[in-house]
Amino acid sequence: PFDVLVVGGGPAGASAAIYAARKGIRTGIVAERFGGQIMDTMGIENFISVKYTEGPKLAASLEEHVKEYNVDVMNLQRAKRLEKKDLIEIELENGAVLKSKTVILSTGARWRNVGVPGEAEFKNKGVAYCPHCDGPLFAGKHVAVIGGGNSGIEAAIDLAGIVKHVTVIEFNSELKADSVLQERLNSLPNATVITNAQTTEITGTDKVNGISYMDRDTKEVHHVELQGVFVQIGLVPNTDWLGDTLERTRMGEIVVDKHGATSLPGVFAAGDCTDSPYKQIIISMGSGANAALGAFDYLIRN
Ligand code: FAD
Repeated sequence: PFDVLVVGGGPAGASAAIYAARKGIRTGIVAERFGGQIMDTMGIENFISVKYTEGPKLAASLEEHVKEYNVDVMNLQRAKRLEKKDLIEIELENGAVLKSKTVILSTGARWRNVGVPGEAEFKNKGVAYCPHCDGPLFAGKHVAVIGGGNSGIEAAIDLAGIVKHVTVIEFNSELKADSVLQERLNSLPNATVITNAQTTEITGTDKVNGISYMDRDTKEVHHVELQGVFVQIGLVPNTDWLGDTLERTRMGEIVVDKHGATSLPGVFAAGDCTDSPYKQIIISMGSGANAALGAFDYLIRN
């Protein structure tokens, strides 16, 4: 059996595997797609000490670094079941069952899409999901934020400090965000909120030039000219397959303690699949290292 089996090959999983392998213990990593979300990312400017890189390049460096160590890499394999017996078992979609003394879950998350024409086409060409990552690219421009929950309004407040104007588009008749956030947004001179509005299309030529929405009362379609659209309608953790084997939040995020330990002894978790409040590459890598050290500590005590 493995001492540490990492499930997920994004920044968190790669970091966890390296930290575990450096302890000289038997380490494996299973990934549906090595690299994770960064495979869909263009410019990265906030991975500290690297002024600029691109997702696929960073993913290749992650893989190269993991392969420096004695890590059993199982790419293009999806885990479908976790069960704790004497050891922890991970069953893969192909039927294989892997056994390990500890497991680190780092299966990440995915942004929920609005699913309107133009969204997929203009991804990285004006359609963005992460204000911390891509906000500065829209300095001095007009952008929209789709979604009026906490993450949407936080994004709008954040962006208002960078861009010329931000328009929030909310489907329901009122914003769901905490009132303190709504008040803060309302105090800003360069933010507009449109409620009861269903986004129908993101328009553009080679990049985004506007957004269309339907007023749900009048059924009238309006078009706003702008250069960027931030989609903020939820980040979904890839944790459904875990069912109720361990504690998850209402949103499906795996609950972890300071050591990265989950409610199931011997099972740790790191990165975007956990209840950590901020989801970023550098944070995922830190939490992957933390969970690996937590797992090592568990191994020497049990
Ligand atoms: P992920 O990167 O999501 O990796 C999850 C891994 O688990 C993948 O290998 C996946 O294939 C695997 N997996 C999932 N389910 C299973 C399963 N059942 N079995 C086996 N494997 C599984 N952050 C920044 O800091 N800066 C940026 O500029 C930036 N830009 C971004 C741009 C875009 C378009 C997106 C989508 C995200 C961006 N982020 C950015 C966020 C950043 O990519 C994430 O915070 C980070 O990748 C999270 O790492 P992770 O390892 O926790 O999860």
